Amino acid sequence: GTSRDFNEHVLHKTILVGDSGVGKTSLLVQFDQGKFIPGSFSATVGIGFTNKVVTVDGVRVKLQIWDTAGQERFRSVTHAYYRDAQALLLLYDITNKSSFDNIRAWLTEIHEYAQRDVVIMLLGNKADVSNERVIRSEDGETLAREYGVPFMETSAKTGMNVELAFLAIAKELKYRA
Ligand code: GDP
Ligand code: MG
Repeated sequence: GTSRDFNEHVLHKTILVGDSGVGKTSLLVQFDQGKFIPGSFSATVGIGFTNKVVTVDGVRVKLQIWDTAGQERFRSVTHAYYRDAQALLLLYDITNKSSFDNIRAWLTEIHEYAQRDVVIMLLGNKADVSNERVIRSEDGETLAREYGVPFMETSAKTGMNVELAFLAIAKELKYRA
């Protein structure tokens, strides 16, 4: 429907996707609690999901954000994880080339399993670690443009662009046709 029909009481399932170690759990913790907890979270436990409300132009948008629980290998994030997702944050790590190279495979899987109209945003995380950067911002932008998805660099450590990324998702959910 139109933005006029937007139902602010509905929870919008949003999922975090990307290779193990790119910072999915850290990003969600930063968004939820405004802090960075150094060190890896248990890959097998994850934190399940978190409900967060963001306000877009005076309207509340409820996000239910799901973190993977160690299912990051291809073909093991199941159809069920993607099925009801209305939005998806796809992460790579700017200091890890393979996590960037795997984005195409993730997108293939997403196109196979997710809803056709799922809102996608590509994030290059760990932007604070500039001395170990191996993926240039332009490379992220180019890939995002190729797939027609918005792109941002984030830092789960400093909080850079973390709220902005979720806000962009919420805005898209509210205003898409
Ligand atoms: P996940 O496997 O994708 O959930 O990744 P984690 O959130 O467990 O993070 C993996 C590792 O990267 C941990 O050691 C985190 O502390 C670290 N990390 C995550 N995000 C960032 C970030 O933005 N900057 C820096 N410097 N380290 C990060
Ligand atoms: Mg994790």
